[in-house]
Amino acid sequence: MLNMTWEFKLEPTEAQVSGIEDILDVCRNVWNFALRERKDWLDSRKSPVNACSIRQEFILPADASFPSYARQCKSLTAAKADFPRLKTVNAQVLQQVIRKLEASWESWRLKRSGLPRFKQPRRMRSFAFPQMLKNCVTPDGIKLPQLGLVKVRWSRDIPDLFEVKQARIVRKASGYFVMLSLQAEVDVPAAVPHGHPVGIDVGLEYFLSTSDGEQVKRPRFFDRLHRKLKLLQRRLKTKQKGSANWLKLQQKIGRVHQRIADHRKDWHFKLAHHLCDGAGMIFVEDLDFRIMAKGMLGKHMLDAGLGQFTNQILPWVCFKRDVYYGKVDPRGTSQECPDCEVEVRKTLSTRIHHCHNCGSIKPRDVAAAQVINTRGQRGIETACGVDAAGAEVTRSSWLALKQEIFGATQGITTHIA
Ligand SMILES: [Zn+2]
Repeated sequence: MLNMTWEFKLEPTEAQVSGIEDILDVCRNVWNFALRERKDWLDSRKSPVNACSIRQEFILPADASFPSYARQCKSLTAAKADFPRLKTVNAQVLQQVIRKLEASWESWRLKRSGLPRFKQPRRMRSFAFPQMLKNCVTPDGIKLPQLGLVKVRWSRDIPDLFEVKQARIVRKASGYFVMLSLQAEVDVPAAVPHGHPVGIDVGLEYFLSTSDGEQVKRPRFFDRLHRKLKLLQRRLKTKQKGSANWLKLQQKIGRVHQRIADHRKDWHFKLAHHLCDGAGMIFVEDLDFRIMAKGMLGKHMLDAGLGQFTNQILPWVCFKRDVYYGKVDPRGTSQECPDCEVEVRKTLSTRIHHCHNCGSIKPRDVAAAQVINTRGQRGIETACGVDAAGAEVTRSSWLALKQEIFGATQGITTHIA
């Protein structure tokens, strides 16, 4: 089974825009109510049974059970009798809101993120239709429950193999978008290790360095956009909060933020394709960028979007291009000599790798990338011993399938020929 999400721009009529905004607002209210219920339950369990807190006391029966997803869905249905506004929105859409709350609550419980927050007006940005009709996609647009036929800018064709499973409507600074979850009943195995291996070291001085000695800097246009952003944010202080001019400026800032994100994503994709040209295997470090983002260079880490690149975009492009993608143990990759494997201690400010044992001299990041490359290849050899003979036949058949799905990308065609 193959899943992917494609995003298209919507061109809703004025009535549809107010319909979307209405749904978003009801969803927001459901979110806030459900979150309050959960937080109240939590607060009621804070002080011991035989004592009271000094400030306030939450009175919930001692045997009141936690408002779980199933429970909250049930009470949502019951609440419709008292709140007719809830009936104006598709029931499944509202259940999705609670499902999402459940997910972020769980991720807080497992200490992966912060506690979910209450949403101010216009802070709810998306909702999902979890079930779509068989032929909801038409040349004119997409048939959505409740909203009817909404015009879509079909920037690319959805392959026949795929079925639309879910549609998420998203409000962004530059308009409304639909994210379609597409699913195909095909089995596409992951790429087998083959061809030229490349190790990649990501960092802040250079965005990335490869084991072949290529070093890529962050593009300049980010700085230009960031300057613009700073200017607008400074101007925001002179406006009265909540006034018409303030709102206008806020929207302008939102659009710049989105442009930065779009530019970055586009650049990441192009870079990933560039790396796949001529490579058969790509290895990266298995790093947790969320922890690094908490450190001193946090802002820059987030800004460069290293995590998005190495953990989402690069694996996907590799999959598309039939390049093997592997992760290696990140410990001490920068402290090892790639040529003789002796430990060479370096502080963060030492930018050149100079081995005291074999005398090799190269940029620090390139040396690290070469160590990653060696580790990756060693990992493959121990894991499977590379069984290439039988795999070759099946590979060409599903390469053709990939080509049918994604269109003729450079790498796939050269592999088949
Ligand atoms: Zn050495």
